[in-house]
Amino acid sequence: MSQQTQAKTFEVEKIRKDFPILNREVNGYPLVYFDNAATAQTPTQVMDVIVDYYSNYNANIHRGVHSLSQEATDKYEQARIKIQKHFNAEKSHEIIFTSGTTHGINLVANGFSSILKKGDEILVSAMEHHSNIVPWQMLCERTGAELKVIPMNDKGELIYAEFEKLVNSNTKLVFLNHVSNALGTVNPIKKIIQKAHENGAAVLIDGAQAAPHIKADVQELDVDFYVVSAHKMCGPTGVGVLYGKEEWLEKLPPYQGGGEMIATVSFEKTTYAGLPHKFEAGTPNICGGIAFGAAIDYMNNIGFEIIANYEHELLEYATAKLKEIEGMKIYGEASEKTAVISFNIEGLHPYDIGTLLDKMGIAVRTGHHCAQPVMDFFKIPGTVRASFSFYNTYQEIDRFIEAVKKAKMMLQ
Ligand code: PLP
Repeated sequence: MSQQTQAKTFEVEKIRKDFPILNREVNGYPLVYFDNAATAQTPTQVMDVIVDYYSNYNANIHRGVHSLSQEATDKYEQARIKIQKHFNAEKSHEIIFTSGTTHGINLVANGFSSILKKGDEILVSAMEHHSNIVPWQMLCERTGAELKVIPMNDKGELIYAEFEKLVNSNTKLVFLNHVSNALGTVNPIKKIIQKAHENGAAVLIDGAQAAPHIKADVQELDVDFYVVSAHKMCGPTGVGVLYGKEEWLEKLPPYQGGGEMIATVSFEKTTYAGLPHKFEAGTPNICGGIAFGAAIDYMNNIGFEIIANYEHELLEYATAKLKEIEGMKIYGEASEKTAVISFNIEGLHPYDIGTLLDKMGIAVRTGHHCAQPVMDFFKIPGTVRASFSFYNTYQEIDRFIEAVKKAKMMLQ
């Protein structure tokens, strides 16, 4: 399909009207927002839900007999069910609200403290966000388990044959991202989950970067844990979910103690509430959870396949244009990737390029993207990362390409 036809079918201009922030100017230029892998923008449909919550039924949940509390509880629990259906979890109590992906991973890592012992091994991929490295290193320090790394190749793809060599009966847990935030690589998680299970290991998938583009089916994947953040999916910051198979969530101890997560408390003995409350101590981000549900509705109304196809076209268009620039080096050219381009220009520092792009109204990310091992692999301090969303346009890419060329000229 031609550029124009695809854009027309997709009606991107209509979608952009849902995102008021896209109308603002930065440094005198219309904003081009290409930092979607860090945080996606929020449509008015989600903002309206937030305003409605604080305007009409702001109250604490689960323990009030008054109407506002019940209304808030109903909406919060309806959001949980929406999220359950979206990820096709079997039971709604397998969806635990968290403050985001980082919280979800720490919750599971903490739980495994009581399961792992010296001699056990846990496997991580070479292309993880620090969120999916550091909690496991801390777990190894506590338990004496050993962390092993599944390597990747120069295209930024995991070497599956090496994973097959590493996984064995001592492997208790494998954790990796569905999509790499630094490179955009989509990992073959189904195959990895299957192989890990054959060896008796559980699998946690960091779905933070996949969730905005790919509708994961946790039952079909047969994954043990899947974690996401709402703010990557047009929802608010500070909220996310951990999906966990019921049998695993039953087995893991609570992460934090406090109100909401108990059945009975006395100074002699406390008993814990059932799922999901066992893992939801304290007053949660009620409004955030409800808004997350609204964000999922919003994205489903557009359709994940349509989103992914359109973003892929943007990716191909931008990649081809960037490659025309002399000295351009793109990192991560996996056969399957999302709309993320990490690049450098020979002789230039990514930070300088990012700063000049900002001066021209273009928001990209520069640096190590919380994935220092990936940068070490490519022997670079960082990259410029442009990440596209379904509300971006070909015209914005054209502006970006011109701005990159101009930045290059100014810096050389
Ligand atoms: N994992 C990946 C792959 C990410 O891209 C991010 C955020 O950039 C995270 C984890 C951490 O997400 P959060 O900061 O929302 O907890």
